[in-house]
Amino acid sequence: MNTTVSRRKIAATVVTDAAGKVLTVTQKRHNGQLTVALPGGHQEDGENEMQTLVRECIEETGVSIAPTESLLYQVAVSHGPTQYDVNVYASTLKGVYPRQQRSGERVVSWSWLTREEAIRAFSTSSVRHIGEPALARLEGNTHHQSWRYDASSAYLQAQKAVVGPVSEPGHFAVGDYHTEQLGVPALYLKDADSLSRAAMELSRMVAPYRSDTVVGIAVGGLPLAVLCAQILRLPLAIVEHDATATSSARTRGAGLGNRCAVIDSTFHSGATARRTIDVVNSMNGTVSLVAVATQSIPLNTHTDYDIDVPVHALHHLPIHSWNPSECPLCQTGVPLDERPGRNE
Ligand SMILES: [Zn+2]
Repeated sequence: MNTTVSRRKIAATVVTDAAGKVLTVTQKRHNGQLTVALPGGHQEDGENEMQTLVRECIEETGVSIAPTESLLYQVAVSHGPTQYDVNVYASTLKGVYPRQQRSGERVVSWSWLTREEAIRAFSTSSVRHIGEPALARLEGNTHHQSWRYDASSAYLQAQKAVVGPVSEPGHFAVGDYHTEQLGVPALYLKDADSLSRAAMELSRMVAPYRSDTVVGIAVGGLPLAVLCAQILRLPLAIVEHDATATSSARTRGAGLGNRCAVIDSTFHSGATARRTIDVVNSMNGTVSLVAVATQSIPLNTHTDYDIDVPVHALHHLPIHSWNPSECPLCQTGVPLDERPGRNE
């Protein structure tokens, strides 16, 4: 097979203002969808990367930046035969010029977001593989790391094959809620290849946080956690929650480190993540992020548990859930289903 690879250079930047807010742009993609991105773009002939960044920031947002040498993150993104070498820098705000929106522009708006807002916005962006690691690396990190990211295989495969059958309809009790569908990461276990690709994708999300320990939650989170620990070459600790006594938990394996990456299969109400963070904190560790295969996005209730660390997921599952007393399925006499993937 003759694959001609052409390479293009892209420079992007995380611009922060005095308050630590991050400049983001909203782009219209080729398919017409809007997505959040970092300011930046293609390097034009005769330009160095700094000149590209200064020009793009002015063109896209009216924001003028000081030239920077601070490389946060590099990623090679393949789209078919074209490879984009993306360098993401950190730069600081110098001034803001008025900017007129022109019709037909790729960037349709721009805004300053807190770091937490930006991380949340990038979690559903089609360029999250650029934005998320760069934001994670902002946190006092001076060295950078390179990744390869193949948009035509890895991530799309993760969306289609790895997390292919992501949910099952029914009537399920999940945490304190009843739901009308359930994320079924247990399906990964049926295919070792899917499982390892999911672990690879999760590891990409975890790596920029510079964790020193992977914490797997028994039992469902263990297959992914074991593989992530192996990929990231980090020690593995296992937290085992007692299903009947919510306050008790046991840990196995490595001791809990200072910066733990918590890996689990699902994130529904946040109850398990919250309890795990509490366990880690009680042992003088901190949790740098929670990474899961499937995260439920509640459509009609809010998450009960406050999770004060970033949550990353391979797949977001929009889901209706109710307090049992208000569950419309219960009200029409639909019996609860066994949770799939469990043999009990
Ligand atoms: Zn119900």
